[in-house]
Amino acid sequence: MQKAILVLNAGSSSIKFSVFRQNGGSELELDSKGQIEGIGVRPRFSAKSASGEKLIEEEWEKKESGGHGRAFANLAAWLKGHYQDQVELAAVGHRVLHGGQEYAKPIRVDAKVMEKLRSFISLGPLHQPNNLAGIDAAMEETPEIPQIACFDTAFHRGREPVTDRFALPRKYEDLGVLRYGFHGLSYEYIARAIGEQAPHLADKRVVVAHLGNGSSMCALKNGRSYDTTMGFTALDGLCMGTRTGAIDAGVLLWLLQDQGMDAKQIETLLYKESGLLGISGGLSSDMRDLLESDDPKAADAVEFFVYRIVKELGALTAAMGGLDALVFTAGIGENSAEIRKRVVERASAFGFKLDAAANANGRGCITTESSTPEVWVIPTNEELMIAQHAANIVGL
Ligand code: ADP
Repeated sequence: MQKAILVLNAGSSSIKFSVFRQNGGSELELDSKGQIEGIGVRPRFSAKSASGEKLIEEEWEKKESGGHGRAFANLAAWLKGHYQDQVELAAVGHRVLHGGQEYAKPIRVDAKVMEKLRSFISLGPLHQPNNLAGIDAAMEETPEIPQIACFDTAFHRGREPVTDRFALPRKYEDLGVLRYGFHGLSYEYIARAIGEQAPHLADKRVVVAHLGNGSSMCALKNGRSYDTTMGFTALDGLCMGTRTGAIDAGVLLWLLQDQGMDAKQIETLLYKESGLLGISGGLSSDMRDLLESDDPKAADAVEFFVYRIVKELGALTAAMGGLDALVFTAGIGENSAEIRKRVVERASAFGFKLDAAANANGRGCITTESSTPEVWVIPTNEELMIAQHAANIVGL
């Protein structure tokens, strides 16, 4: 029987999943992926094969609308039926937002680890509880299968203290108020991909721009995280779909003291109503809509998005002591030749020489041979990273 790894990414009302099968050798290959959306309301379940062929698409009755537990039980039943006796699950790998200061690597979860992970809920209140609900559900339904937690913070652990410190009184650092950084599974995947696709850059200074709904940048030095734009939470750094990115803390004091807003209202403002959506006057958080729009506010949003990337590129480059390559990844980074072009043009101080045809093609190196620094497009694959970690831990 072939071994497989199930990868789960549990959100507030959805569980995304991927199944990676071990092929003839020891490589893991995507076999199917899908999601359960509308958990708790009216769940919809869909799955596709690796080649995009529809395997199932159905709505579940209201009685099926329990929480993550019920959703995972249904998923497990579907997997059992779909794979029959051909595949045996060797582990379930879970994407978990926060590993705190403790976890610099993925870990097999037991009750003690779960207790520790729950103590990080206050560090990631929007994601951590849902990620843990996914683990709880999988442990309940499939207790015999190892559950592996893979953290978005882990890749950034071990940086120089000066890069993850705030200028607050020391007691806050002792309480865990640090710049943890996120999107670590994506950056780890990209660091490995650079080793394979561009080995001459593997031990150099590379800035990776992960541009999606959530966006951040990471300075990679010798393949390790040197610094990153996200901080204590995934709110810091770049302008995002609906998140502000970096903002003067004085604005929050003004909102509290002058505008009479409470913490919950400010949280909603910063996470859900700002970023591209906010600057575009509520038009859209989706980069495609903004690029297509004639509205000047949409243009303002795109300009701000690009400006922040360029400014952080300068800061990360200076912090790291130079730049050998810039890598674009994630939804916008991989798919928008227009945004890549605008970033490269605005960052004219770096002297990038963009190859227009290669940029339009959008894979691999997109600068001319004489360009230093280089610019690359490398698709990320956080799910495969999780599957590989889980496979390593269970010795697959
Ligand atoms: P998430 O952070 O949710 O994983 P993704 O990495 O999937 O996000 O990125 C989603 C973003 O990518 C959206 O803003 C979407 O508009 C953008 N995007 C996808 N394709 C394109 C494209 N061809 N041009 C511009 N933006 C794109």
